[in-house]
Amino acid sequence: MAALSAGGGVGYNAPVMPETPLRRQYLDIKRRYPDVVLLFRLGDFYETFDDDARAASAALGITLTSREMGKGKRYPMAGIPHHALDNYLGRLIDAGHKVAICEQTSEPGAGLVERDVVRVVTPGTLVEENLLDGKSNNFLAAVLVEGYSAGLAHLDVSTGEFAAAQLPADGLDLEIGRLAPAELLVRAEDQVSALSAPNRTESPDIDFEFQDAEDRLKRRFGVATLEAFGCADKPLAVAAAGAVLAYLERTQPSSVASVVSLSTYSTERYMALDPQTRRNLEIAQAGRWGGEGQSLLSTIDETRTSMGGRMLRRWVGQPLLDREPLDARLDAVAWFHDRPLARERTADLLKSMPDLERLAGRVAAGRAAPRDLAALRRGLEEVPDLAALLCPAEGGEEGNGGVDGLLARLDPCADVAEVIAEAVVDDPPAALSDGGVMRSGVDEELDRLRSVSTGARSHLAALERKERERTGVKSLKVGYNRVFGYYIEMSRANQAQVPDDYVRRQTLAGAERYVTPELKEYESTILNAQERIEGVEAALFKALCERIAARCDAVLATAAALAEADVYSGFAAAAARYGYVRPTLTDGDELDIVNGRHPVVERVLPQGGFVPNDTKLSRAGARVVVLTGPNMSGKSTYLRQVALIVLLAQIGCFVPADAARIGIVDRIFTRVGLQDDLAAGQSTFMIEMVETAQILRNATDRSLIILDEIGRGTSTYDGLSIARAVAEYIHNHPALGAKTLFATHYHELTELAGTLPGIKNFHVAVAEKDGEVAFLHKIVPGAADKSYGVHVATLAGMPPAVVSRAREVLQGLERENGRRPRRRRNAPANPDQPALLPPTSEVSERLLDIDVASLTPLEAITKLFELQDTARRESEKGRGGQ
Ligand code: ATP
Repeated sequence: MAALSAGGGVGYNAPVMPETPLRRQYLDIKRRYPDVVLLFRLGDFYETFDDDARAASAALGITLTSREMGKGKRYPMAGIPHHALDNYLGRLIDAGHKVAICEQTSEPGAGLVERDVVRVVTPGTLVEENLLDGKSNNFLAAVLVEGYSAGLAHLDVSTGEFAAAQLPADGLDLEIGRLAPAELLVRAEDQVSALSAPNRTESPDIDFEFQDAEDRLKRRFGVATLEAFGCADKPLAVAAAGAVLAYLERTQPSSVASVVSLSTYSTERYMALDPQTRRNLEIAQAGRWGGEGQSLLSTIDETRTSMGGRMLRRWVGQPLLDREPLDARLDAVAWFHDRPLARERTADLLKSMPDLERLAGRVAAGRAAPRDLAALRRGLEEVPDLAALLCPAEGGEEGNGGVDGLLARLDPCADVAEVIAEAVVDDPPAALSDGGVMRSGVDEELDRLRSVSTGARSHLAALERKERERTGVKSLKVGYNRVFGYYIEMSRANQAQVPDDYVRRQTLAGAERYVTPELKEYESTILNAQERIEGVEAALFKALCERIAARCDAVLATAAALAEADVYSGFAAAAARYGYVRPTLTDGDELDIVNGRHPVVERVLPQGGFVPNDTKLSRAGARVVVLTGPNMSGKSTYLRQVALIVLLAQIGCFVPADAARIGIVDRIFTRVGLQDDLAAGQSTFMIEMVETAQILRNATDRSLIILDEIGRGTSTYDGLSIARAVAEYIHNHPALGAKTLFATHYHELTELAGTLPGIKNFHVAVAEKDGEVAFLHKIVPGAADKSYGVHVATLAGMPPAVVSRAREVLQGLERENGRRPRRRRNAPANPDQPALLPPTSEVSERLLDIDVASLTPLEAITKLFELQDTARRESEKGRGGQ
């Protein structure tokens, strides 16, 4: 930056305040990173300056000071000790900052140390073990939209998992919601819902250019075509993947090496789960249903490794739509389920299995520490034990299909384990600089230097003995300190014995320290050897890591197989412990569950407290169930349990039921309760209608729809009319007819079962005795006859005065309106209310009287003419009366 001049004025010789070279260096670097907090390495500290210092001080609660960096000019400054970087980094990222780490890139000496940014840390590019959750992925994603299509790619920098998809633009939100990326790269022009990805970074358009993106990927993978990755004909997927890679190259060049492969996937192979369904069913995040901290995921998660945990999370977000892979998963679960011993031993083995995915990621990125290699070796060496457990021969059975596929993928990567075992000591120190990482015998030069160093050390011991003899001073000792190096120490009392060739170096309270030419010689031998040893060890270690990195994809494939084994054995463990059964999956449309239970609610109730319930839905039989029953009786629980059982079956898990036969469902839709989305500026009722509209537009005859109350957010008649129209639409629409569970407090809806064949009424049973009400939680056929709302209000602790007044009002209303008659269908509940079904007419009464089976064709035609006549008369009368 040019020197600042304090004032203008012709002829005025402005005082110049030159900045220090350090300040100029800082500003040069900062100019390249304007939007991030720049951590500038100064000795043992990372310092921030100016606005960055203010931001860091606010986010980290560290003191804002200032530093003179120019004559009389002080600048705001705030710093953190270098060894605490990880901790502060996490807090800066959490506070929404991006951080550039600027290191000293030359050795301190005369003049200014060179510095440069080695890494820009953003939420999507974190690799620090302690800043990441072991059981979730941390995705950096990129998205672009072209017309009706979109490209989406995601990368977990810590594991190297990199995948891309080309999908319809209107499915984008769902997929982004599923991935929940830590950071989403977008082009300025693309409108992507802010809700699903809070951390958005605008990337330059050029990053998304197809040709550049393709070239970048090809270069990275060293291939001439992307065909092997399955994305050759998916330009938008390629563009998104290219954008991710470009960003990584810019922000964190050292991590690019961990990107070793790309997979292409199609969202059509998975069941789409919209955000409200994920939320309503509490699939991965807990809320009301299971109480504190219990989601479906946490309830069924019995995985022992982080790799398995991450895979399970992925599976739960991506139920499958094809029977074949699901049956394969279920076979594997069944294998573990039927072999309790093998299951337990697998769990024991996996318990100590390190996170091979993240280890491989660190090795590939050149970030591995000595103990990472030792852990990788230990993990890989356990793979054959696991394989032996899964080997059919172990159980004496021939070719058990359950885990054969898994077994084939459990490559122990023996060559990798071996090279580590040969080169690295069994129990290496934490840091490479601590020394003693590489085994002796690995490298001649290293061995020679080490023996020089040990030789010199034993010479020192000999020297101490010799000097003690020479001086006759028993307390003489040879020691070392970082400032003065090696010395001979003699106490003040023995000063008379100090030989002439001793040179004084340091005076202490009761002693003096000396050096001799001989001592200096040993010192330089030792220190030189030490320095060289460090250099040689570092080079050997780096070469070893590079060798292993070349085998990274094999290690990752093994890691994936281990993760799968972990998920299967975990599913089996949950099934065995909680009494789940293997569901039978079909390509039909039936949903037949015997004694199903809610997997989460049953765990929070005392053992045996959960009342199981059946479900039987199919297109030909009942396809819409209207479920009535008192508040708090268990309607919502039942609805969700059906959805969760289907979901579990379609991720390949056993289900909480005595038996289940499930025709594969293409989507689960849910519309539940009342909730405001004030942040998105939508009222309760608007949300309800938007969600319902979405269901009606997207559901098919293979979908499962859960409707827990519709039309509650508006006036009774509006709500009731909408609820009824929705139920009729689902039932009648030729393209729909989805299996539907509809819980409602509108008892009027139960009348539908009388007219529409695919609608059946069920209610939750209640036992009432001497004014006491007990909820039995049992779903039984037929409609409920009371709602017990006032009773629930009592249970909720309403003031008695309110409860008794409510009773009074209720009785008054019932007297006025009369209880809605149930025996005569079609009669309006109250003459003032609009009829839900056409009022009783002469035509309908005469129709009901006809014994159709006994009519001859001629009689039938005559009756028809008569009925039409009557209907005409009635209709004219009706019009005249208006
Ligand atoms: P509302 O109409 O007020 O929404 P609801 O009928 O939907 O109520 P739920 O919220 O499903 O009732 O259930 C209320 C409580 O009843 C649950 O939290 C659970 O403790 C208990 N419950 C529900 N179903 C069962 C069951 N099958 N067995 C035992 N307890 C159950």
